Amino acid sequence: MQAFHCPTCRRLVFFHNFGCLSCGAGLGYDPVTRSIVAFAGGAAEPWRSCGNRVVADCNWLVAASDPNDLCRSCRLTAVRPNDAEAEHLAAFADAESAKRQVLDQLAGLGLPIGASGGGPPQLRFRLMASSYERVVTGYEEGTITLDLSESNDAHRERVRQQLGELYRTVLGHLRHEIGHFYWWLLIAPSPHLERFRELFGDERADYQAALDQHYAQTADRPIALGAPGPWSDRHISVYATAHPWEDWAETFGQYLLIRDGLETAGAFGLEVGDPSQAAGRRPTPTVSDSRTGHRRFRDMIDRWLGYTFALNAMARSIGQGDLYPFVLSETVVQKLTFVHEIIEGPTGEVLGPGSARLR
Ligand SMILES: [Zn+2]
Ligand SMILES: [Zn+2]
Repeated sequence: MQAFHCPTCRRLVFFHNFGCLSCGAGLGYDPVTRSIVAFAGGAAEPWRSCGNRVVADCNWLVAASDPNDLCRSCRLTAVRPNDAEAEHLAAFADAESAKRQVLDQLAGLGLPIGASGGGPPQLRFRLMASSYERVVTGYEEGTITLDLSESNDAHRERVRQQLGELYRTVLGHLRHEIGHFYWWLLIAPSPHLERFRELFGDERADYQAALDQHYAQTADRPIALGAPGPWSDRHISVYATAHPWEDWAETFGQYLLIRDGLETAGAFGLEVGDPSQAAGRRPTPTVSDSRTGHRRFRDMIDRWLGYTFALNAMARSIGQGDLYPFVLSETVVQKLTFVHEIIEGPTGEVLGPGSARLR
């Protein structure tokens, strides 16, 4: 995440701010230029507020000439609680906030949210409360469904413990499901599929059977919390072991997490000492693959590990658990490097329709 300055007084402001706490200037976020701008809501200004400004706490602006009432994030939401469902609107606003963060990052990485020419799949969201019907967070045909009860801290923590997960957040859910979207967009119809199968396994394995087996195993043998298990030699999370598609989505989500974290560290000028001096560091073996970008990503990972050691130590000083509970094994770094090469490499001409229902 970038660090932003108030355009009026130059003090620090944040991505979600509607105004500057120092000078009182009205602010909004222009998703086109990816910047915080001074915005008072006057008729002569080149923007107006998003129609979801109040209901979704949305500070994104819409070009004055744009006929759509909603900003480019809010207009992607196809299903949401209605205005009478007051008990779900706070969760909806939380989810929209996380969604704006993810969409802004995708824009920063130059990732398309639909096929060129406007054909399917266009990314869509269904942000649904599960009090009326069963809602399963997942991905299908370009549409991401999020169970809004995941915004409830007590509920999410209970599920996290049931599933033996080390990390469970709304932002993480959205990054994971978006990973499925990009598999269908960037991997399935591309020459990268072969390399994908080498790294993640054959995705033609029966998906539903794999997921059923995963959840049965989780129920039988709840994974001990607080430390990564043997699965961490090859996977970023226990859920990533369920099926190659889930491994990809978990890895993709982790990639977005790392890139966002690195951007934030850079924006605030954070420096940590040589991470190789930090205790507990896993050695990084020499890697023979010398494709473009590989070394640069290795450097990014080394820098990231330095930050995470410091972050976790800092969290413990404050009396919290580890902020970053992941282990990046050599195999996981290879998978992350693959994601990096897909994103940073040439893309665009290999867009195809999405299919299948994924969690
Ligand atoms: Zn200001
Ligand atoms: Zn909006």
